[in-house]
Amino acid sequence: MRHPKSILQPDAKQDFLWAVMEGMPVSGELEKHHIFGGARRPMSEENGFWVWLTNANHTGTSAARNRLHIPGVHSERAVDVLLKAMCQWKYQQAHSPQEWMALVGRNYLDEGMPLGADAWPGSLRDRLLEAWLGWLDGQTEEMEEGSFVPDETEGIF
Ligand SMILES: [Zn+2]
Repeated sequence: MRHPKSILQPDAKQDFLWAVMEGMPVSGELEKHHIFGGARRPMSEENGFWVWLTNANHTGTSAARNRLHIPGVHSERAVDVLLKAMCQWKYQQAHSPQEWMALVGRNYLDEGMPLGADAWPGSLRDRLLEAWLGWLDGQTEEMEEGSFVPDETEGIF
């Protein structure tokens, strides 16, 4: 089995949710969360569909006892879908939606937003969507920096 780096955090070993929700680098005791579990776990591992999380953000059940004030990804569908949507968006920068469907079998994006986000619990929805949009902004900036090509039209006018 191949064990590639995470496609969402290839270089950083820090809690992914702290990073995208608060811009805070939180390291220390981290657990590896496979964005797709169960039968899809090997596929998730082989494609880098995983992130680092603190225990509270991973298997924690109580938002009140988590300093980030969210339930862990295994306890809250909205957090789970946020990560799945980010994973799909990132994957599809280099692959087609058809390749995604062949691999994962489900779509998690709806017009550039996480699927079903309208129905997320109100207290969480705003924070998770803010994280989504902020993350997307960061991705776009990264792409622009990475794909710089000299302006060939310069000097024509
Ligand atoms: Zn997990």
